[in-house]
Amino acid sequence: MQGRMSTKPRIEPYMVFADAKGNIYDHPELLMLCSRAGELSTPRPDELIPLPEGSEFFLLPGRAALGLDPETGRVEELDEADGLAVAVFASPAHTLSATAAYRTRPGAPVLPLFAYGALGFFEGRFYICAKRVDQDRRQEFGHIPCERIENGARKLLADLPGNRLARHLTSCALTYGCPAARNLALGRFEAPLPTSRVCNARCVGCISLQPEDSGFPSTQNRITFKPSQKEIADIMLRHQSKEKRPIFSYGQGCEGEPLTEAPLIAAATARFRKAGGRGTVNVNTNASLTDAMPRIAEAGVDSIRVSLNSARKQTYEAYYRPNGYGFEDVKKSILAAKAAGLFVSLNLLFLPGFTDGENEWEALNALVADTRLDFIQMRNLNLDPELALGVVAGIDPGPCMGLTNFMKRLGKQNPWLRFGYFNPYIEAAGER
Ligand code: SF4
Repeated sequence: MQGRMSTKPRIEPYMVFADAKGNIYDHPELLMLCSRAGELSTPRPDELIPLPEGSEFFLLPGRAALGLDPETGRVEELDEADGLAVAVFASPAHTLSATAAYRTRPGAPVLPLFAYGALGFFEGRFYICAKRVDQDRRQEFGHIPCERIENGARKLLADLPGNRLARHLTSCALTYGCPAARNLALGRFEAPLPTSRVCNARCVGCISLQPEDSGFPSTQNRITFKPSQKEIADIMLRHQSKEKRPIFSYGQGCEGEPLTEAPLIAAATARFRKAGGRGTVNVNTNASLTDAMPRIAEAGVDSIRVSLNSARKQTYEAYYRPNGYGFEDVKKSILAAKAAGLFVSLNLLFLPGFTDGENEWEALNALVADTRLDFIQMRNLNLDPELALGVVAGIDPGPCMGLTNFMKRLGKQNPWLRFGYFNPYIEAAGER
């Protein structure tokens, strides 16, 4: 008997738009469109998922919503006055496979540092183009009353009087709502350990420092002091007393490049390990300083997460604008980290329609195969999509294969490689 015909109705979402007051509507006729590096299309059936809990809607100023007329097959643009484009900032653990479809009007402001996913509506539900890439729930706070976070922050300060880093992180938790700092206040999952005030890169989408003329603000300020090894180790020891499988991460959104403070990281981690410290110690880094790898590994660091938008020198350097290092140093650092026994993840800044281009895939596949790095965290590039495409203008990504194929093919070529969204807990952490 032929394959059983699917009885499930084909999901064909209608476009979503908003009026100037911010009221959101689904269009009665026009269908949802999405964008992959500027190429418009209707969503692929395999990429539509119901809107994940904890996602946020964004109205896009100066941008008119676009939809598809199923009768004519033509792309229709709504009148800007009452046809504003709407995008979705997907909740953590979800990678966008396409961005919102809109027409930007002259004089429209640059969009702030978020990712702008495509959104549609079908039979009573919102749908987005994305994939859940991690089942870990560490950045879900919807079920936790704010008081618990406030009480946890107060308790942290009371337990570590005079600890400047604890004070800094409680303000991150309560002012910026930083998920890592909130988890520290709650005594669960991954604790943040910012250390550095400077960086040797100038990422276009840097979240801790933006030049005056960038047209959009950084999402948080950089730490203004250098914590001591005791302040860091005390926070680590306290966190491990509350979390059975603690993860500690240097390299946070509120700092520069942590490897510029490699001696402090090594000293604080060694102090923590000497005091019986257990759990995964990780460094989120731009991997620019190769010589730091054996030193931090020796001190008790278990893993590094390398921030990367591409494994092609031109694409990488167009975004990171490195100062005193280049893409080849990043590759050398990954090899040095592996040689020192570190678990290596990539923090891949995924731009739908570009990162999943054939040429980009080829280069990334070669980097994974050459270095045998262990894990790819499939993150969304938090940058105005048109600005992001401007940064890589003139660089041909190759034909777009889509997020699912991108991951499937990488996994097939590199069978040891794992995918996710968050820094994994390393079972054998600290046992080297
Ligand atoms: S590596 Fe980090 S701190 Fe440095 S410029 Fe890039 S985002 Fe900013």
